[in-house]
Amino acid sequence: MRTVPPDPTIRPLQALLRGCRKHCAVCNSGHLFTRWFTLAERCPCCDLRFERIEGHWTGDLGINTIVSFGSLLLALIAGFLLSWPEAPGVGLLVIAVAIAAFMPVLFFPFSKTIWLAIDLIMRPLEPGEVARGYGPQRGEEPGRPLT
Ligand SMILES: [Zn+2]
Repeated sequence: MRTVPPDPTIRPLQALLRGCRKHCAVCNSGHLFTRWFTLAERCPCCDLRFERIEGHWTGDLGINTIVSFGSLLLALIAGFLLSWPEAPGVGLLVIAVAIAAFMPVLFFPFSKTIWLAIDLIMRPLEPGEVARGYGPQRGEEPGRPLT
């Protein structure tokens, strides 16, 4: 049986879509989380170390905050518009509290893989950062910026 070698080229949109699906931005491998909040240290397929530099995970915190507050803002705007000209009722407050409480938790793993994709777009793979066949190796040129 003939196997097709993986394509080492990562395109920005492709990487982001993989991140939105909780998949590895490099190799599209899934099952990266052992639990909802626990991301494996390395990708089981391409061996990418997910915490690429110290402080790497501040980016996913920012993404999670933006998405959570954005969802809350959209819900509040929709609630006010739908109840106009009456004042919004307790229902809108309950919805807002539910979004504020659960959205950061539900979005947590997605924020990690989306941030990983954004980081890979901004900082291409270094030689030896992933297994052979998935990116540049030591002694080769570093990855090109994603275009
Ligand atoms: Zn991978």
